[in-house]
Amino acid sequence: MNTRGPRWRPAYIGVGSNLGSPRKQVERAAAALGAIDATVLVKTSPLYRSAPLDGSDQPDYINAVSALLTQLDAATLLWRLQEIERAQGRSHDDIKWGPRIIDLDLLVYSGVSIDEKDLKVPHPGISQRNFVLLPLCDIAPHLRIPGLGSVCRLAAAVDTTKPRIEKLT
Ligand code: ADP
Ligand code: MG
Repeated sequence: MNTRGPRWRPAYIGVGSNLGSPRKQVERAAAALGAIDATVLVKTSPLYRSAPLDGSDQPDYINAVSALLTQLDAATLLWRLQEIERAQGRSHDDIKWGPRIIDLDLLVYSGVSIDEKDLKVPHPGISQRNFVLLPLCDIAPHLRIPGLGSVCRLAAAVDTTKPRIEKLT
């Protein structure tokens, strides 16, 4: 009898908020990740504060990255992330890059590449986003991103003024 079940895969989730006490929203979402079925929350990075990507007049973001181990497939995991977003009041007609109460992105799922309409993994834009690369390098220094290589090599090359970013203590 096979009692092992589906294999456990590492997944990395980007968490961001710039509305409704962003720090609290990020901490709440990170805690909710630990309650997903067939999933273990391994670690959450330090928090970062970053300016809006498009330089527009909206509040700064609080960002973090969480590491999970999960038996869920990538599409089911994304669905769970969207459930958490909805539970925290995210409405999905938000403007692209507009202010949001919570944003959960599936950044990396195992060593897998997916290019479907509603699910792209690794998440597009990782290689330019300091608010993803810096926390990801903090918690997964040996991680290699499919198609992009070492996360810490990418993090070391990133511009920390665009958007302006600082690590919170
Ligand atoms: P962004 O996070 O890029 O600012 P949104 O959160 O508004 O954009 O986009 C949500 C949409 O992105 C969802 O409809 C979802 O299907 C799609 N999407 C595609 N790939 C991913 C992914 N890896 N993680 C999260 N959402 C994704
Ligand atoms: Mg998103």
